[in-house]
Amino acid sequence: MSHLIQIADSEVSFTCGSDQSILDAALKAGVQIPYSCKKGVCGNCAAHIEKGNFQRLLIWPEAQLTGQELLCQCRPQTDLVIKPPQWHQSTPAEAKKVQVKVYRNVAAAPDVNLLHLRLPAGQRIKFRAGQYLNIVLPDGQLRSYSMANPPHESDSIQLHVRHVEGGLFSQIARQLIPGDVLYVELAYGQVQLSQDDQSHLLCVCGGTGFAPVKSLLDDLAKQKSQRQITLLWGSKDTAGLYLLDHIAKWQKSLPHFKFQAVVETESDALSLGAFHGRVDGAILAMDSDSAVQEVYCCGSPNMVAAVKKVCLNALGLQSENFHADVFVTSQSAGATHLA
Ligand SMILES: Cc1cc2nc3c(=O)[nH]c(=O)nc-3n(C[C@H](O)[C@H](O)[C@H](O)COP(=O)(O)OP(=O)(O)OC[C@H]3O[C@@H](n4cnc5c(N)ncnc54)[C@H](O)[C@@H]3O)c2cc1C
Repeated sequence: MSHLIQIADSEVSFTCGSDQSILDAALKAGVQIPYSCKKGVCGNCAAHIEKGNFQRLLIWPEAQLTGQELLCQCRPQTDLVIKPPQWHQSTPAEAKKVQVKVYRNVAAAPDVNLLHLRLPAGQRIKFRAGQYLNIVLPDGQLRSYSMANPPHESDSIQLHVRHVEGGLFSQIARQLIPGDVLYVELAYGQVQLSQDDQSHLLCVCGGTGFAPVKSLLDDLAKQKSQRQITLLWGSKDTAGLYLLDHIAKWQKSLPHFKFQAVVETESDALSLGAFHGRVDGAILAMDSDSAVQEVYCCGSPNMVAAVKKVCLNALGLQSENFHADVFVTSQSAGATHLA
């Protein structure tokens, strides 16, 4: 059975089946609402449901505090009125399935491969900085990876793949050689950063959470952004900060860019001159000329949860200005929540 979902204070509405998530129906209708994991973890699709009845697939702990619900986890039981903090309408986005070829596969760290993929000659892909794709495995399973290249490099795709012990695609990724074929579906996820070039943006990432940050900052550098940007990149050891050369480029092309490496191993932190500890600790120790107004964070669910807590409690950030991509695993739907 279908129900009508009305966006509050607008003329926009769309239909949603009672067996469908409100987020999926919105995206299908071209109503672009920020989202990432679609598994009830990242919190990007939180919105007020002002009128009507709905079914929750899982209880989101922040619902009580914020009065919001995760649209990826709610199905309508009646017509609804919803109020997402951010949305816009566009032509319904259709995911494209593309055959790509490996043209380079580099081991950038003992447990990270940089995978460079080429589209068929003459084909280009359209995506926004920070979006991700799904790799379709031979048995039909999907694995998500963030594009690390910026949207203007549209004839190729770069992925940063961390090896997970016993992981299906982790094993495949290590063995890929130039000429190998993969099937990918793209583009997914919608993190909407503010267009305000004056506000201070803090990017925080752990491990291969650097991939979407690279896409976002390469894009801002291309736009000659004047934004104050601070990047904290955390890893267990120095090897995990596998692309430090690239950071030197932003130090030249982004006039108000600051970088702080964050390393958990004390000897590595000392030799690199990095902050010793975890990224949430580094935020507390940050020496900044201006207050942080927006945060983009990417990494494991626990790391993103710890960063969100510090940003909201210690920096006084509004939760709608905290954007996250959470590297949830294929098995972890709703298993971890951002506190
Ligand atoms: C939106 C999105 C974007 C992502 N982008 C990236 C990216 O750019 N780079 C990247 O490296 N990963 C990224 N991931 C994670 C990625 O999709 C896979 O989950 C991960 O690479 C493991 O896949 P696999 O097939 O090797 O392991 P699987 O076969 O899925 O898992 C094998 C075993 O390992 C466990 N496991 C899986 N992943 C992890 C983990 N991260 N930590 C601990 N245990 C785990 C599983 O629970 C399972 O027991 C992203 C995830 C999402 C949702």
